[in-house]
Amino acid sequence: GVSDQRVLDVIANTPRHLFLDEALSHRAYEDTALPIGFGQTLSQPYIVARMTEILIGAAGGPPKRVLEVGTGSGYQTTILAQLVDEVLSVERIKPLQDNARERLHLLRLKNVRLRHADGGFGWPNAGLFDGILSAAAPRSIPQGLLDQLAPNGVLVIPVGADQQSLTLVIREGDSDQFKTQTLEPVKFVPLLSGTST
Ligand code: SAH
Repeated sequence: GVSDQRVLDVIANTPRHLFLDEALSHRAYEDTALPIGFGQTLSQPYIVARMTEILIGAAGGPPKRVLEVGTGSGYQTTILAQLVDEVLSVERIKPLQDNARERLHLLRLKNVRLRHADGGFGWPNAGLFDGILSAAAPRSIPQGLLDQLAPNGVLVIPVGADQQSLTLVIREGDSDQFKTQTLEPVKFVPLLSGTST
């Protein structure tokens, strides 16, 4: 279901086994989500590719500056970093962020900044983003993320609790109007916002 060749090439060239514990690395090339500890998962490669394709498609080409909410293993971060100019990624679980940082270093990715914080509030003082992608599902879209969308900026985010939908939000020009489109059913870990780690 993914047709953007740029995305397919990057997925094909990114060693997903590096983002898992050794005990699970033999399953790295299955099209499934896999545990990374702390009750969190490395997203299914299909959905990583699909969300990336939607982000690029809706933005009319790879966006320059992207905010990712939920670094997790750093796999989606690595995919994005190969397609856009700069990725800022927020994770609320420090040990996951530490592991992700090591992997990004190993892969020599220089255009990524990581932050240990609650991404439900975006990345305060980091300016506006052409694209925002969330790997965790809030019940409703956090205002903080909408506020950080640049004019015509694109947000791709799973929304809902038991029933979640992948949702595409586009800021209409530089207005405070947003066009929202519900895409396909998905299953993500919850976006925990406003709670302590
Ligand atoms: N793309 C990642 C997905 C990890 S799962 C990967 O493929 O590895 C989603 C991540 O979102 C988890 O690591 C979880 O800790 C994180 N998360 C949940 N709520 C968050 C919040 N409010 N702020 C930042 N990260 C959050």
